[in-house]
Amino acid sequence: KEQMYAEIRGQPSLTRDGAPISIQLNCGMILDLPHLKASGAEGIGLYRTEIPFMVRSSYPDVHTQTDLYARIMDEAGDKPVVFRTLDVGGDKVLPYMAAGNEENPALGWRAVRIGLDHPSLLRQQLRSLLRAAAGRPLSVMFPMIAEVAEFDAARRLLELELKRLETQELEPPSRLRVGAMLEVPSLLWQLPSLLPRIDFLSVGSNDLTQYLFAADRGNPRTATRYDPLSPAMLCVLRRLVDACAHAKVPLSICGEMAGRPLDAMALIGVGFRTLSMSPPSVGPVKTMLRSLDVAALREYMAGLFNVGDHSVRDKLRSFAKDHG
Ligand code: PEP
Ligand code: MG
Repeated sequence: KEQMYAEIRGQPSLTRDGAPISIQLNCGMILDLPHLKASGAEGIGLYRTEIPFMVRSSYPDVHTQTDLYARIMDEAGDKPVVFRTLDVGGDKVLPYMAAGNEENPALGWRAVRIGLDHPSLLRQQLRSLLRAAAGRPLSVMFPMIAEVAEFDAARRLLELELKRLETQELEPPSRLRVGAMLEVPSLLWQLPSLLPRIDFLSVGSNDLTQYLFAADRGNPRTATRYDPLSPAMLCVLRRLVDACAHAKVPLSICGEMAGRPLDAMALIGVGFRTLSMSPPSVGPVKTMLRSLDVAALREYMAGLFNVGDHSVRDKLRSFAKDHG
């Protein structure tokens, strides 16, 4: 691990023409934490909290969850961690949770939908996160938000837990940031009301492409039917960058595309400056961006948003070749 990161860790995360790119990690296990220091990543842009829930035989209680989240924060030290609330259901079924058979699990009872229907579950998780963060900063992110009303409902549960903390005279977090994942396309049409409500937005491009193209992310037969580097997806991403810049809301992306060098290049070209990826991607992505001329890429990409191609991947690949 040390060797894997030794070369890139010390190099600044800047493009060739000087644009700073924040590289963050996607993690889901306490064992992933050493990568944070070793890779030189600036923080954890996505902590998937569901893994400890999936390996147990029953729902972990508040005490267990609090200990776990506190350990993660301890390990991360000064680097920020974005905790995503429970994202189970769909294909990630908990053995102790009666899910019932769903015809379309990806469109079914999953993620924040479960938490909103069973508020005690989500409240226990939020309570644990608040307790673990006593006196230190906390960032919480809700997955699969499909409309502003869902974000408001989730946020209300957090407010209830904050009140509870106060009643119990427990120390609150030193700073609380609340964000949403953008992975359900309906939310794209509510940005004017969403953005003033949130402290940050993170694109879950794995699910966003699945829902945008109506193509199962896990089905090999539909895998060639869509490409995140399609004109449609790039238009969506550009629109998000513009809307967030206008509203001054920090935007990041934590789907797998952020960790693939060519896709990451396109994301930077569209205007993303914060990319969250799995640890092995840090080296390849950082190497790519340090040789990237963003101004030239932006100019090149301006002609790619309205083409009729299935994908502009080949075009972006030849840009990358021509520009070292
Ligand atoms: C995503 O959908 O892009 C995402 C980051 O979440 P997950 O892969 O855990 O669904
Ligand atoms: Mg997702």
